[in-house]
Amino acid sequence: MINKLKTSTAGASYKAANILNKGGIVAFPTETVYGLGADARNEEAVLKVFRVKKRPSFNPLIIHLADIELAKRQAEFNALAIYVAEVFWPGPLTLVLPRASDCNVSRIACAGLKTLALRVPENPAAQDLLTTFSGPIAAPSANISGSVSPTRADHISDSLLDKTDLILDGGPCKIGLESTVLDLTVDQPRILRHGAIPLESLIEKLGDIKEYNHSSNTEIKSPGLLRRHYATNQPLRLNAITAQPNEAYLAFGDCTSKNAAIVRNLSESGDLSEAANKLFLLLRELDMPKYESIAVAPIPNEGLGRAINDRLERAAVKS
Ligand code: AMP
Ligand code: MG
Repeated sequence: MINKLKTSTAGASYKAANILNKGGIVAFPTETVYGLGADARNEEAVLKVFRVKKRPSFNPLIIHLADIELAKRQAEFNALAIYVAEVFWPGPLTLVLPRASDCNVSRIACAGLKTLALRVPENPAAQDLLTTFSGPIAAPSANISGSVSPTRADHISDSLLDKTDLILDGGPCKIGLESTVLDLTVDQPRILRHGAIPLESLIEKLGDIKEYNHSSNTEIKSPGLLRRHYATNQPLRLNAITAQPNEAYLAFGDCTSKNAAIVRNLSESGDLSEAANKLFLLLRELDMPKYESIAVAPIPNEGLGRAINDRLERAAVKS
């Protein structure tokens, strides 16, 4: 039986926190995508998340906390980190920071690194769960590793549902794209993964920001970012101005195709927030064997467009 509760149900957070306390795993909504959470201090529970998701053990998990004070117990916050957290938390920004000496997050959750990726989400249901639980929750996205992320509870696949103790259904995720990952362990902050907080917003508050070049760098700074990810079953063809009759077309703004077998538009008005929100939903819808491939319109590489292009490029990597 699927154990699903609406986040609006009385006592839903208590039930979920109780399951986490006992070492169970709970899927829950955030403003980015649905997460698959475990008590980050409980090695067995964390291992279960890796196992259920088929996530490689070298790919560390993001640790979610209710507020900055709880985050400060786990990682070393210098003045810059405190400033960044105060500006962007709660919200879809993940900070990579040095592990605190008395950090009690499982080393397995962090893939043995001396750093920690922390986030304080703003989604009310996630906040409620984190506040009730009052400990760190390790939560990657609630999908099989490498596949398209879930932005609604019913996107969570049956293979995960069977092994999850509870699903909190909070409706569609507000943003629908993963958090931006910002490395603050170096002199100048650098983006390890583009995401829901655009580069422009970070520059506005922090000045110059570096972008980590994963392909040209031999040091693997953020394990798990190099691989094919967010992948559809059917091949993706990017920057496609037109589509073939046997292709599905993922349009954007005015760039649409009359020839395609089916057309879905990320945003008819060319709004990147709307496009980010619909990206995973529409990729799922178009990812059907009856379409030979999915042709995708060019997406401007600015604002949220950077994160959208990052996901599309990684989804298009051939297996
Ligand atoms: P996901 O949970 O799938 O959204 O991915 C989390 C991302 O954060 C992955 O790409 C990880 O590589 C990255 N990450 C987690 N912990 C660290 C860390 N300590 N240092 C750098 N990157 C990290
Ligand atoms: Mg993920």
